[in-house]
Amino acid sequence: MIIVPEKVIPDLIDRKTSFDAVEAVFGAMARGDAYNFPVIRENIGYADALYGFKSGFDKAGLALGLKSGGYWPGNEAKGLTNHQSTVFLFNADTGQVKAIVGGNYLTAVRTAAASAVSIKHLAREDSKVLGMIGAGHQSAFQMRAAAEQRDFDKVIGWNFHPEMLSRLADTAAEIGLPFEEVSLDELGAQADVIISITSSFDAILKAGQVKPGTHIACMGTDTKGKQEVEAALVAKATVFTDEIAQAITIGECQHAIADGSLTEAQITELGAVINGTHAGRTSADEITLFDGTGVGLQDLAVASAAVELALESGVAIEVDF
Ligand code: NAD
Repeated sequence: MIIVPEKVIPDLIDRKTSFDAVEAVFGAMARGDAYNFPVIRENIGYADALYGFKSGFDKAGLALGLKSGGYWPGNEAKGLTNHQSTVFLFNADTGQVKAIVGGNYLTAVRTAAASAVSIKHLAREDSKVLGMIGAGHQSAFQMRAAAEQRDFDKVIGWNFHPEMLSRLADTAAEIGLPFEEVSLDELGAQADVIISITSSFDAILKAGQVKPGTHIACMGTDTKGKQEVEAALVAKATVFTDEIAQAITIGECQHAIADGSLTEAQITELGAVINGTHAGRTSADEITLFDGTGVGLQDLAVASAAVELALESGVAIEVDF
């Protein structure tokens, strides 16, 4: 069995590797070669923690396993990250455990890769302005990955807690793009691509604020009750997702499904666009929306890549198990 510790992962896995792994597994899901098992997420009644599993099997990439982890709100006070996760991979031929891989950094890069894959396949080619809603831990990862997909000439941003916006300004500077803090009206009026990555439980962005032709990647809503954009905006857009079952239950689509303004049949898996079985964006005026709920197969895909890279570079710890 191989162990790939959390601390070696940032130096192992780059954005291209995560992007390729996530794009490939979305394609496999839409072909029916890969599927996610039902998600388990429990309030364990101890340390205020939420704990659970995301798991699945990719017959094409031969990734079988699970990500185990959750959210411990008291961790920050202990100098630890509140979100904690670990990926377990199994040999698909024998069921033997293959690897244990630190999952915290991988979660950040696989989530950033998902919105980047959606931008590659759905945003207008001439997109110039990237709009960010959210300035937490994940926002910097999303921005870096998005910036590689189009020739953006500026980043604009809004956050519920404006004091956090320096993270967006610093990340834009690192990429070499100017950054402006804007109102939500300005963000919608200017942005060609919008990424939302917040833990909001109320709609932030409204249908009337978004201009025609925009691509929106809603990445923060991954739990029942969370919401980042008005249901009317989802209903107005051409909607894509990683997995339909998650989109309608824990993703941004849950609200438009609940009020009847969107049907399940109107949602397309992004993998279908990747595989060329759905046209994706069909006009420059269309609003496209990607509901990125975060699936276990993304975790298994990047963890498998990390194992290969760890073996190649000699940092994998081999244990006789
Ligand atoms: P974080 O705690 O570092 O940042 C939280 C962000 O949400 C900040 O921008 C904060 O200002 C904003 N926010 C907090 N309360 C808000 C409110 N009431 N209204 C509007 N905005 C509010 O978290 P993070 O690591 O950056 O993650 C952001 C979100 O993305 C979380 O909800 C997390 O669960 C989700 N997430 C989704 C995936 C996925 O695959 N879809 C993966 C990782 C994280």
